[in-house]
Amino acid sequence: MKEKAREARQEQRVIGFVPTMGALHAGHMALVERAKKECAPVYASIFLNPTQFGPNEDLSKYPRPLEADIVRLSAAEVDGLFLPDLAEIYPKGFSTYVQVEGLSDRLEGKSRPGHFRGVATVVMKLFETVEPHFAYFGRKDAQQVRIIQQMVKDLNLDVAIVVCPIVREADGLALSSRNAYLGADERRAATVLYRALQAAEQEITAGARDSLELQRAMGKVLEGEPRATVNYAEIVDADSFEPVVRVTRRSYALLAVQIGRARLIDNMLIEPAGEELLATI
Ligand code: AMP
Repeated sequence: MKEKAREARQEQRVIGFVPTMGALHAGHMALVERAKKECAPVYASIFLNPTQFGPNEDLSKYPRPLEADIVRLSAAEVDGLFLPDLAEIYPKGFSTYVQVEGLSDRLEGKSRPGHFRGVATVVMKLFETVEPHFAYFGRKDAQQVRIIQQMVKDLNLDVAIVVCPIVREADGLALSSRNAYLGADERRAATVLYRALQAAEQEITAGARDSLELQRAMGKVLEGEPRATVNYAEIVDADSFEPVVRVTRRSYALLAVQIGRARLIDNMLIEPAGEELLATI
């Protein structure tokens, strides 16, 4: 991989990179398509990174349809798939980690201790190996991409982070590899995240600015779904990920909800557009 990256850089070509954990779906492929428009070569990686999973999380059950993933990436004409094995990323005696402080402690970081340390560490290693000019991430994982941006800034990494919109099913459920865990009834229940965000969007369109009002609107929808256990439903500043009392600048409505075996996350971006607020689910 390093040889290929060096070759491409020597030839003044623009390397695009899409890191994934596999079990690819249209959300991942949208990142690949965007990268293909802007870069050549485009490399994808599949690495199911154990350090970002907690001891009681779903690492052992995470779907691994490698053959199907390779077919999808070939059809999308990526120029290469980086498929490192565990010992390549974490050789015996591995002991250096990247910790983005502050941002990693809240929300997803609080619910999943050590998660973002694992993410930042593996992304750092992948960047170092693939040497991308542009790296593509989904807004689906809004806090993750904010943390990667902070790492890039703090460590002077020479890569531009491109944030891509959330890809959804027809009924609004954000695509996720973890949707595979949902049974038929749970799958129907899982639209509750999108419906809650829509309720908040309606409040915003009607002029609401108070976070409590938006949270109440989301809470009402979430409470209506007996299969859903809310982990958090918050309105935060898009830069600091600290809770805001009123939405006056770029913010996120963030949701984490457990449905059956699946812990699902989703979000809505809220940003000022002239005098009004624009909400993008
Ligand atoms: P993962 O394989 O879950 O680590 O995800 C790899 C990349 O795909 C991350 O940058 C995710 O944010 C992105 N991604 C996952 N699901 C979606 C989605 N529904 N829409 C857009 N991007 C996504």
